[in-house]
Amino acid sequence: MIKLENITKIFKTEDVETIALNGVSFEINDGEFVSIMGPSGCGKSTLLSILGLLDNPTEGHYFINNTDYGKMKESQRTDMRKGNIGFIFQSFNLIDDLNVWENVELPLQFLGVPYNERKRRVEDILRKVKMSHRAKHYPQQLSGGQQQRTAIARAIVTQPKLLLADEPTGNLDSKNGLDVMELISQLNAEGTTVIMVTHSQHDATYANRIINMFDGQIVESVTKML
Ligand code: ADP
Ligand code: MG
Repeated sequence: MIKLENITKIFKTEDVETIALNGVSFEINDGEFVSIMGPSGCGKSTLLSILGLLDNPTEGHYFINNTDYGKMKESQRTDMRKGNIGFIFQSFNLIDDLNVWENVELPLQFLGVPYNERKRRVEDILRKVKMSHRAKHYPQQLSGGQQQRTAIARAIVTQPKLLLADEPTGNLDSKNGLDVMELISQLNAEGTTVIMVTHSQHDATYANRIINMFDGQIVESVTKML
């Protein structure tokens, strides 16, 4: 279970101060699929970075299973992030000098998983995202859809309980976008909690809850009736 209490994020640059998040509170239960929507600049990516422990809030509390990560040091956040939280970026963020296999293997190396186990897990996950036949390819040799499926494989190879996705179909055509959404939806069906930022009304239909933001605040939270 994750819970945000009055999260505020202020960016200060020289004499400009931007209030990116202004008192955001919500609770998300394990296994939910939440879409975050709202106009450009309203704080969606900032919120996702805080949820992913990539950044600290200026004020407020962020509870993961009752532990407050709101004011944790970088080293503690890194420890929690590793293996527990998967992050998918709009721009894929693969490492150009590593092939598909090596990109996906990397988080397991960071966790110190032994070679045989790494091999088994990477094989499994590449099969799942339908990239086994491209294991030796480098990112620049792949289509956008293939790059994003590789990035998803890398995000989930450690079997995180929480998957965060920042406009995962934003740089894809509609066919590739559909494949990526099917994959994310399948992970959620298998029990992964998903929080996804999207501009797409269609992508949002996969979620069981839609949170609408405006100007650093949540203005609406709608849970779908089943
Ligand atoms: P969104 O993802 O909804 O488009 P962001 O979370 O990226 O919005 O940004 C929210 C606001 O915070 C914007 O006004 C943006 O310019 C500002 N902002 C985001 N990151 C930084 C940063 N690192 N430094 C200064 N301002 C930032
Ligand atoms: Mg953004």
